[in-house]
Amino acid sequence: MTTARSDTPILGSDNVPRRPARPNVIPYITRRRGEVGDLALMLGVLPRLTGLRYLDEGPGDRDHRGVLWARCSQLLEDGMPVGTPEFGEVHPARQRDAMMRLRCQVCLESASKTSLGYLFLAARPSDHRMEPGWPEGALTAQPPLCLEHARVAIEECHHLVAGGHVAIRAKRPRLHGVIGTAYRFGTGGVVPAKVDGETEEVTLPYGHVRAPWVLASQLVRRLCDVSVVDLNNEAEAAGLMDSRSANSGRACLPTNAGALGDSVQPGSGAHVGQGQEMGPAGVRG
Ligand SMILES: [Zn+2]
Repeated sequence: MTTARSDTPILGSDNVPRRPARPNVIPYITRRRGEVGDLALMLGVLPRLTGLRYLDEGPGDRDHRGVLWARCSQLLEDGMPVGTPEFGEVHPARQRDAMMRLRCQVCLESASKTSLGYLFLAARPSDHRMEPGWPEGALTAQPPLCLEHARVAIEECHHLVAGGHVAIRAKRPRLHGVIGTAYRFGTGGVVPAKVDGETEEVTLPYGHVRAPWVLASQLVRRLCDVSVVDLNNEAEAAGLMDSRSANSGRACLPTNAGALGDSVQPGSGAHVGQGQEMGPAGVRG
C-alpha cells in the first residue's frame, strides 16, 4: 500500500516502543485528491431509448451484468492508489474491484474467511431502522476486510466506534446490484432524474427495469447465512490483540455502513433509506 509510513518506533502510554503504525491505513477504495469523474456530457442513449451509454463507450464501461459504471480517473503507482485521500469518498472502480473479488477494502489482500464465511463490518442500525432478523439478508456496499484491517477500522473509524460496530461473517455474500445515479431522457437529452429537486440516487438489484438508466458507482452484496462474531476473540486467536494503530483517525472506512440496515427488495426500485449518505460522491466514512 502506498501510504505514509512511519519508521519511527511508536511509544505507548507506558513509554514502551510498539511496533510502527500499520502502513495500510488509507483504504484502497478511498478516492484520492485529483481523481475526477467523467463529464455527464459523455452520456448518450442506446437505440430505441433502452438505456444509457457512453458516447465513446468501451468494453470496460459495463460490468458483467451490463450495467454502465461511472468513470473516474485513477492515480496509481504499481497498481495502488497514491495521493491525498478524500476520506468519505469512494472510488467506483476500486470499490467494485474489492467487492467483486471479495478482497480487503483497505489492502486488497484476500479478505478474512473462516468456516463461518467472509468478514464484513457494519455499524449497528438504530432500533427503528433495524430490519427484523438483521443482519441476515442485509445489503452492503462495504467490501469485506482482512482481520487486521477490521481491527484497525473499529479502532479508528469514528462512525463505527460511535455507532457500535458489528462484525459479521457471511457464508454467501451474494452479488445483489448497484448503487448509482438515476438518469432519464428528456427534452435536453440525458439528464439526472430528480426527486424533490435532488438528484436521485438508487440501490437497484441486477435485472431491475431501471438498471439500464443507472450510472453505477458501488457494487452491492446481500449477506446471507450470516453469523455475528466477536472480533476481539478472533483477533486474539490470530495473535493480533497487541496490535494498536498509532494513526488514529486516518483509517476511516469510506463506505457507508448504513447500507446494511437497508433492505431494498428486488424490483422495488426504492431509494436507499439513507440515500443522502449513500451517493457515489457523498458516502461518508
Ligand atoms: Zn486488509
